[in-house]
Amino acid sequence: TNYFLNRMSASTSLNAFIDVQPELSLAQAKQADLLIAQGNHGKLTGIPIAHKDVFVTKGWKSTAASKMLGNYMSPFDATVVEKLGISGSGMVCLGKTNMDEFAMGSSNENSAFGPALNPWNTQYVPGGSSGGSAVAVAAGLTLAATGTDTGGSIRQPAAFCGITGIKPTYGRVSRYGMIAYASSLDQAGPMAKTAGECAWLMNAIAGKDQRDSTSIERASEDFTEKLGKNWDSSSSTSSKPLQGLRIGVPKEFFAQGLNQEVKTAIEQALKQFEMLGATCVEVSLPKTELSIPVYYVLAPAEASSNLSRYDGVRYGYRSEKYKDLAQMYTHSRSEGFGAEVKKRILVGTYVLSQGYYDAYYLQAQKIRRIIAQDFQTAFAQCDVLMGPVAPDVAWKIGEKSKDPIAMYLEDIFTLSANLAGLPAMSLPCGFNQIGLPIGLQMIGNYFKEAEMLQVADHYQ
Ligand code: GLN
Repeated sequence: TNYFLNRMSASTSLNAFIDVQPELSLAQAKQADLLIAQGNHGKLTGIPIAHKDVFVTKGWKSTAASKMLGNYMSPFDATVVEKLGISGSGMVCLGKTNMDEFAMGSSNENSAFGPALNPWNTQYVPGGSSGGSAVAVAAGLTLAATGTDTGGSIRQPAAFCGITGIKPTYGRVSRYGMIAYASSLDQAGPMAKTAGECAWLMNAIAGKDQRDSTSIERASEDFTEKLGKNWDSSSSTSSKPLQGLRIGVPKEFFAQGLNQEVKTAIEQALKQFEMLGATCVEVSLPKTELSIPVYYVLAPAEASSNLSRYDGVRYGYRSEKYKDLAQMYTHSRSEGFGAEVKKRILVGTYVLSQGYYDAYYLQAQKIRRIIAQDFQTAFAQCDVLMGPVAPDVAWKIGEKSKDPIAMYLEDIFTLSANLAGLPAMSLPCGFNQIGLPIGLQMIGNYFKEAEMLQVADHYQ
């Protein structure tokens, strides 16, 4: 813990953290030492972790990178935090990581605390919204971090920072205590250097939670069990551990607009998978392009409802300038929310309003269902899907912040897994010419996280 706290204080310029309290971390580390001395410990006891600031955490600030929650201290822990914490798996919390405000963004530039910087080149964005978590892992400021992924927020920053992250199947991990953005899409997951490490973290966080009715009841699973084993358990060849694995390559993920260096890196990675014994088949996800308008109708719709709770009455920011209740609401919200959040509340309110609901929200829901069905058609021909995480590598800070459409288009390959509720991960597969990392995306069928981690682990 001391080692990482020192690294963190030497790297504050990366702006990876929103709240750091070394004395709290060290107290937890002492508790972990005690547990270990008593022999009362698990695999993760004493290992440091950082939490995205979207998870409420007792004793720490929980701001979702918004002025609206600038000084908010939660009276309770999110389930993910509790399960990973000292009284759960025994991990030590190093701090709360920077992010886009309320997890809305792809570059971390929407944080009320300023952007986190990509450690590979600090002129570039780290991706978002879980940018701070990705930066902290990539720069060695922590061994692991939590993230959330509503439309790519674990996978895309993992790709831009050269680390591994997995968004589990919707409902696999409890959302209790996760500050809500779009509830039908939000899902928490681990970010670390390798798939193997993510598997250990999955063991700690997965499972039904009575406090989240959308979390799913399933027999508990050991996500590390398949690591290192052959895909085809009846084969004993060690040179081709992935023999029998069918990789679906969606042709829409390689359409024009894909950066050439990204394309080359993905193709090389697919060749390596073939060398490990896998076979590639071309598949089609014909509605890929529509995932952008569908997501940017549904996510703001849900956000407009979720964010209505920030009225300045019970908690959060309250304006000092008001004459009556209505003014208190409007001024608190006008001053407390950032520009992107306000834009999405407006869009969301619009698409849900009478007269427009059928044209936008209902239409989007219908296409969402077709997108989910298309995945099932693809999975009839393959075990996992692979392609790029994003059409580009990280871009320069400020390059796209004035152009929301350009920014939204960067989400094209990540959104559909959320719309379908499928597990999806990002793993590093190389660098471009100027040394920026490139991420490979793997999408699995429902509840196939263990298999995906097995496949990724053989590649790594
Ligand atoms: N970039 C997407 C957005 O801006 C996804 C964010 C996320 O997954 N939280 O909404």
